[in-house]
Amino acid sequence: MQDKTLVTIKDLYVEYHSNRGILNRKKTIHAVNGVSLDIKKGEILAVAGESGCGKSTLAKALIRLEPAKSGEILINGKNVLTLDKIDLKEFRKHSQMVFQNPYASLNPKMKIFDILKEPLEINTDFSKEKIEDIIKEKIKLVGLDENCLELFPHEFSGGQRQRIAISRALVLNPEFIIADEPVSALDVSIQAQVINLLKELKEKYNLTIVLITHDMSVIQYLADRVAIMYLGEIVECAKTNDIFTTPLHPYTKALLSSVPQINKTGRKIILKGDLPSPANIPEGCKFHTRCPNAMEKCKTCKPQEKGFSHKVKCFLYE
Ligand code: SF4
Repeated sequence: MQDKTLVTIKDLYVEYHSNRGILNRKKTIHAVNGVSLDIKKGEILAVAGESGCGKSTLAKALIRLEPAKSGEILINGKNVLTLDKIDLKEFRKHSQMVFQNPYASLNPKMKIFDILKEPLEINTDFSKEKIEDIIKEKIKLVGLDENCLELFPHEFSGGQRQRIAISRALVLNPEFIIADEPVSALDVSIQAQVINLLKELKEKYNLTIVLITHDMSVIQYLADRVAIMYLGEIVECAKTNDIFTTPLHPYTKALLSSVPQINKTGRKIILKGDLPSPANIPEGCKFHTRCPNAMEKCKTCKPQEKGFSHKVKCFLYE
């Protein structure tokens, strides 16, 4: 991993509007609430948190699959949110996404060769021969045989399909990949193969990977740094080892305590209630309704981010 910053996210907000509230009133879902984050070239940055915390929305906003309400996403100095059509097309060549479900993300009616050919035909003017060479190279890179290019997705196992999805993400030689829960739809027995493949690719090609996951064991093995997300906000961010050995935020401590392989003390921190709805975010510190350490001021005042390499938003560290 290098120290060069590849992506800078500044005060990013993403909102949805829905009509399904009480009395059919319009509800605003605050999915991402003022996220600021640096992603360094060649690192695997994991974004972790409970389902519904906004991590997948953040991932999609990073490559403009979701529109942002405000903020900036600077990649190589350019603000992704203001790119015009031509620059956006260029940007998409360098930023790819691997989705959670390899059963849904590959078109069942297309042969693997055609699935891999599509992004090359749309985004480049390479010759037929060059496209064929790239496809053969990338399919081998993920540990599959050239013969599989003539088959359809249903002829593969879940792990093999995820390898194909990864090779599709690689055909344009991206420098930045977002992997959204890349192993959670796979059997435990094959999760390790895909995890090891991502690690190998990152090391071999100095790829930058944003790993979206709720699985703390996957994070411990794969990530260089971890950002912990709660109700659309990053509440703690540090090197993986620091998060696992000296977690600071009460929410991070609770997340880690729920993983038996990580929590050797056996003392589990049980949080009060469920994750509040992102349509109804608590005042003050968003975590105060569930925090075992909450103080009076947490109900009304917002903690600011403190720290340099180990950042945390909590009054306990002010
Ligand atoms: Fe808990 Fe208060 Fe810290 Fe929020 S600011 S995490 S409520 S102690």
